[in-house]
This record gives sequence, C-alpha cells and structure tokens, in this order.
Amino acid sequence: MIPYGRQQIEQPDIDAVIATLKSDWLTSGPCVEEFERQFADFVGARYAVAVNSGTAALHLATMAAGLGPDDRLITSPITFLASANCATYVGATPDFADVNRASRNLCPKALEANWLPDTKAVVAVDFAGQPCDIQGISEVARRRGAIVIEDACHGIGSATSQNGQVIRSGGSEWADITTFSFHPVKTMTTGEGGMLVTNSDALASKARILRNHGMTRDTNSFVGLGSEEQAFQPGPWYYEMQELGFNYRINDLQCALGLSQLSRLPQFIRRRQEIVAIYNEAFQDIEFLQTPAISPNVEPELVSWHLYSVEIDFDSIGISRNEFMINLREKGIGTQVHYIPVYLQPYYRQQYGYLPGKCPEAEAYFCRALSLPLYSAMTDNDVRTVVNGVTDMCEKANS
Ligand SMILES: *Cc1c(COP(=O)(O)O)cnc(C)c1O
Repeated sequence: MIPYGRQQIEQPDIDAVIATLKSDWLTSGPCVEEFERQFADFVGARYAVAVNSGTAALHLATMAAGLGPDDRLITSPITFLASANCATYVGATPDFADVNRASRNLCPKALEANWLPDTKAVVAVDFAGQPCDIQGISEVARRRGAIVIEDACHGIGSATSQNGQVIRSGGSEWADITTFSFHPVKTMTTGEGGMLVTNSDALASKARILRNHGMTRDTNSFVGLGSEEQAFQPGPWYYEMQELGFNYRINDLQCALGLSQLSRLPQFIRRRQEIVAIYNEAFQDIEFLQTPAISPNVEPELVSWHLYSVEIDFDSIGISRNEFMINLREKGIGTQVHYIPVYLQPYYRQQYGYLPGKCPEAEAYFCRALSLPLYSAMTDNDVRTVVNGVTDMCEKANS
C-alpha cells in the first residue's frame, strides 16, 4: 500500500535517538535548545520555541497574541482543523474568508471583505506547501491593528524571493508568528512535535513561559507570594506562576530526531519537488484533471510541497470521488481529501452558525479535491504506480 504521506526514517535518525536515550536528558535538554537554534537559523527567524505539536504552537500563538473572548480570528477554510481551533481555545471566534481559486490559499481581497471590527488576528496557511500571499494578507491585517500568524505546517522550508532574496516561511517580516508541525506526514518529523518562530523577543518569551505551565524563574519578573515572611522570599529554588500555561514541552528524544531530520530536509524537499514534476508532466494532458496551480508571484523551485492535491471533475468523468478512491485503493494507492472546509464541520455549524455557501471557492475546490501520495521516501516505482493508476482511472471512467 502506498499511503498519501509518510515519514522517512533512516539509520542516522535511529542512531541520534539511541544516543539521546543513553544520555542524561530525556526531557527538555540540550537537543531541544539546539533544535530551536538550528531551526530558527534555517527559516531565518530570530527565535524558535519547540513544542509537542503544531496545534500546541498555534494555541501558544493565539495566547501569546493576547486573543480572548471579544476577539475574532480569520483563517482559510482549506486547512486542518487546528488553524481555526486555536481561536476557540482562547475563547475567541474563529471565522473564515474565502481562498484564491488557483492557489487555494487565503485571498487578501476576501479577507478584507470579511473583516469585522472585532477581528484581531489572521491565521494564514501555506496550503500544500505553497506560500500564501503573506504580504498581501499582512497589509490588510496590520493596517487594522491585527496580529498575523502564519500556519506553515505544510510549508517547512518553502520560500518566496523578494528582490533576489530568498525568504522562507517563518523568516518574513510580514508574519508576527509562524507555526510548524513535525507530525510524521509532514515534510520532516519528530514523531509528534511543532515549532513557533518569531522575531519578537516578547512573543517568544511569552510562548516559552506558556509552554511550561506559565511558570517563570526570571528574577526580574517576580511579583511575589503576598507575604513579607522570610520563607516566602525568592531564592535559587523559587518559581512563580503568573498566568495559566500548559505542558506543551517537547523532549530531547524528539529533538534529536528533529536535528537529524533537519540535516536532511533539503534532500527531502528536493525529492518531493522531483515527484511533483513527474506528476505534473504525466497529468498535464488528462482531461478533467487539474494539477496544482502556482500563484504568479510564487517560484515553483522554491516551493516545498507537502501535498499533491489535484482537482478532478468527477461529474464529467462519470464516477464519484468515493468510487475513484476505492478503486485506487484496490490498486494499492492511498489518497485523501484535504480538506473539508472547516466551517462545514458539525461543531462549527452548531457553535457559530456557519452555513454551506459561506466560502464558494473553497467549497468548489473541496468537491473536486484529491491528494495523491507524496512523500520523500517514495520510490520511482511507487510514483509510476500512482501515475498509471490515476491515468487509467481517468481514462476508463471517461470512455
Ligand atoms: C498538521 C497541521 C496542523 C497541526 O499539527 P499537529 O502537529 O498535528 O498538531 C496545523 N495546521 C496545519 C495546516 C496542519 O497541516
């Protein structure tokens, strides 16, 4: 079975984890700090805070941004649930603006049109790995005093070029915070894990404290325990909690794996680009199948592809998506649908009253979307199997 995505684990990864198992640190130790430092350098951000999932990174982002019950957060409907749930976690209202039909990324014009006075944050997603128009989105948001969070869980290593300079997701001045996930289907993995990056000292410190129960040992920020008694006075042992945080810590085993994976990330990205090029070429002339479109201002060679999500006009080829997927599965090819527009989820309809029709472009895309297998460990043979399987299906159904 060729799944739609999976990890690539090799001997150096295994060696790195075993070495850490034999070390003094299993929890937050030197590998966490080193992973943060190298990841920050890689994306070009000043600070990186490693956590135990991409979802945790998004939650810390909305908390660090100070979002609360009176606030609204707008994101793209074509994303994983967590991009919107991170608003609900802090009592804010998750809301959605439509995507650009071609890139399937949040459209700055739709964002502007759907802006409400209580909108205080935007979560801009790099769908499938293609960088969103973070500058366009940021110009809309910042003009209105909102914070910009880029959800680059798909876009690890993706970049755009500006005046000849390559700027990775997480390294642009247009996002206040950028989040990443290292779940095994993503471009690199730590088993489970995530990262929050920012250039703001204040946001980074806040995220660090919230990652660990809201606990601080920073002498300068102590408030005190409310008593003059000697035993209550801070000493070397002292810790203080001024706000509610969580245990979102990642451990040294995971970060040893992360460091090892990060060292091979450029290879992973290149292999994914190679496979995408083969798919694009093989599928370009298939009727009723549309390969992923690239925005005019995005350079294909700078995209780190997480998903290969095509659009198939199932009505015209006379087969339902479900049948299509089942048939491919029988040929050993796994596929998936990314994504159901988040506001159509029962929880969102019930809690916020969202209705079908809210984001027509997103819904039109959703009805035709199909993600084909894409991961760096795919062999040329796997790729051929997918190409032949999909081509056969389209042609057979069509005849
Ligand atoms: C995977 C993903 C997340 C969540 O990451 P986890 O590590 O699974 O918590 C958030 N947003 C997007 C777009 C994702 O693809």
